[in-house]
This record gives sequence, structure tokens and C-alpha cells, in this order.
Amino acid sequence: MPSYTIPKTQTAAVVPSSGAAIELRKDHPVTQQKELAPGECLIKLACTGVCHTDLHAALGDWPVPAKTPLVGGHEGVGEIVAIGDNTSHSPVKVGDRVGIKWLADSCLNCEQCRKGREQNCLDAKLSGFTVDGTFQQYVVSFVNHVTPIPEGFDSNAAASILCAGVTVYRAIKYSQTSPGDWIVLPGAGGGLGHLAVQYAKVAGLRVIAVDTGADKKKLCLELGADKWIDFNETKDLVEDIKAITDGLGAHSALVTAASSSGYKQAIEYLRGGGTLMAVGLPGKANLEASIFFTVFKSISILGSYVGNRQDAVEALAIAARGEVSCKYLVKELDALSSVYEGMTNGQVAGRIVLEMPK
Ligand code: NAD
Ligand code: ZN
Repeated sequence: MPSYTIPKTQTAAVVPSSGAAIELRKDHPVTQQKELAPGECLIKLACTGVCHTDLHAALGDWPVPAKTPLVGGHEGVGEIVAIGDNTSHSPVKVGDRVGIKWLADSCLNCEQCRKGREQNCLDAKLSGFTVDGTFQQYVVSFVNHVTPIPEGFDSNAAASILCAGVTVYRAIKYSQTSPGDWIVLPGAGGGLGHLAVQYAKVAGLRVIAVDTGADKKKLCLELGADKWIDFNETKDLVEDIKAITDGLGAHSALVTAASSSGYKQAIEYLRGGGTLMAVGLPGKANLEASIFFTVFKSISILGSYVGNRQDAVEALAIAARGEVSCKYLVKELDALSSVYEGMTNGQVAGRIVLEMPK
């Protein structure tokens, strides 16, 4: 077993209080092996993706509050450097390369966990939200929920599969679609969306990517989207989608836009029996849908929230085989604030992955 020297302090990006500017602290404490509870492990991170959820958490714009002070981040990859004493039946060991996803831990014994909806466990711990996350060099996580990274799969390439990838993979899995069906992806040029384009193609679906700007258009079409609609340029989104789908509408819409505008008109452009997969998380908006047409067209509206341990393993395996690949720019941890700025302005095509100081 490799042995590691664990420093007492580290660099961490800290949100001191909800909505406050991020502070890059170089003297943030590192949890020591003796301080780990049974079932906990300490991971030395190599990198982390930045998800729009981290921005919601830093701004505090959701109806459920994040802890503060907060170290955000939930798309991390690194090496286990310590495990708590008296941890029994650990599926991982010191030296293993693992991923941290949003769902840091769950009880594994309640009805939700037994049914595979671990993310809905009432005792769930959430990385970078209710427990400190991956915007730091050393993170405490949980042996039962960290995800082994397939051998040979690059850490930077794996990072964003742990949230963005898992989330859209699961949403497509439960979208009640069959190969050849049309799926509309509002938000297709963003972090979740550009992976959704690819997982949808793996599932044999035909993709209508909806987003805005030349960069996102290029990205979506390169990744295999069959059609592109710029939501700022279209005169009539519903008519455009109907024209593409023989006048019938799409079989499914998977919305990963972070604002409510991405949800508009979905019921109108879905065909009878269609499914709206709600994934994007604007904090204060209500879903506006015609009750009449939801019933009359037998529409299913389903919320889809990250994924369980098995979803994470499956989404990573597909990416490790090269069937799906995250398109990311690499930056340093201290770029986090500017990444949030870019995200707020809709300027991030694909994902940003931050590398930790060596
Ligand atoms: P992102 O900023 O990378 O991507 C969002 C994309 O939506 C951008 O490309 C933007 O241009 C586009 N967009 C905005 N308005 C639109 C509209 N009207 N029509 C079409 N596209 C539009 O963000 P992300 O990291 O991909 O996250 C997206 C959302 O998903 C966030 O709200 C995040 O919190 C949420 N999320 C949900 C889950 C879940 O489990 N349900 C998991 C992760 C993230
Ligand atoms: Zn996320």
C-alpha cells in the first residue's frame, strides 16, 4: 500500500457566506487521518469540473440553502490517501483513483436507497453543498459512494462525467425513448447539454440541439447533433421543431438550461406520449405547462436528479470507451471566479476543468 504525507494546510476556494465573493485561501486546514470517521476517506484531488450547480450554491439562489462557509465542487478526481480507522467492508483502498460526485453519501438502508434512488435519501450528503467539495486540494468523502475511475481513463476527461455526464445519462435512460426517436436538448451547448448530445446518440436518438451562438452551434454539430436551433434567432421554436419532426413534434425534451426560459413551450413541441425530462435547476421558477394539453397529449413530466452509484459506473464506462467525451478547457483553481462570470454570461461552451496546485 502506498504511503502518503498529508500536509496540515492546503489551498481551497471558499465561499465565506451566501452570495459573497470567493476567497482563495492558502492556509485552509486539511483533515488528518486520525480525524476521519469510520466510512470516510481523504482524497488528494488532481482536478475538478465546474458545474452550474456550484454557481447556484455560491450565489445561494436555490430554495434550499448550502452550508457556509462552503468549499464548492462536485466533479472531482483524485487518489485516496487515507481511510478512517474502523472502516469495515470498504469497496476502495488507499491508492485507488476515484471520483467525487454530487451525492457524497447516503444511508444505503432506507426505502429510497433500497430502490436505487440514493439521491433522494433523506440522509444524503451533497458534495460542495451540505459537505465541503472539490474546490480544494484534499477533500473528505465516503468509501461507499466514491466512484472508481476506469484504468487508463484520463482524470481531466473523467471529471465532468461525475456530475454532468451521470445526470444526463440517467435522464436519457428514463426518458421513455427508443432508438430513432427525436429528443430536443435546450441547453445543448453547455456542460450537461454537450454530454447529453453524445449520450443521446449512444442511445440511438436523433438530436435537436437548442442553444445560442456560433461556438455552441459548432460544438453541438461536431458532437453529432442532427439539427441545431438558435433560441435567440428562431422566430418560432415550436414550428421549427415540428418542421423537423414531420409535423408531429419530438418524443422527448431534456432541458438542461439553468433558466426557466429553456422550459418554455416544451409541452407544445412534444408529440403525444412525449416526455419532458426536467434537469436544469432555476431556483425560483415554476413550470408553466398547459394542464389541458399535458392531459390531452398524455405528456409525462419527470424530474431527474443526478444519479446513483450504478449510474455513475455506467456513465463513466461509456466515456472511458471513448463513445462520449467531455469537451473542456483546463484552468487553475484560482480561475474559479472568472469561470463563474463566463457561465453567468453564457460564454462557456462545454466545460471548464480546474487543476489543483501541485
Ligand atoms: P451551463 O451554464 O454549462 O449550460 C446551460 C446552457 O443553457 C448554456 O449553454 C446556455 O446558453 C443554455 N441556455 C440558456 N437559456 C436557454 C434557453 N432558453 N434555451 C436553450 N438553451 C438555453 O450549465 P450546466 O452546468 O450544464 O448546468 C445546467 C443546469 O443544470 C443548472 O441549473 C444546474 O444546476 C443543473 N443541474 C442539474 C442536475 C440535476 O441533477 N438535475 C445536475 C447538474 C446540474
Ligand atoms: Zn453538477
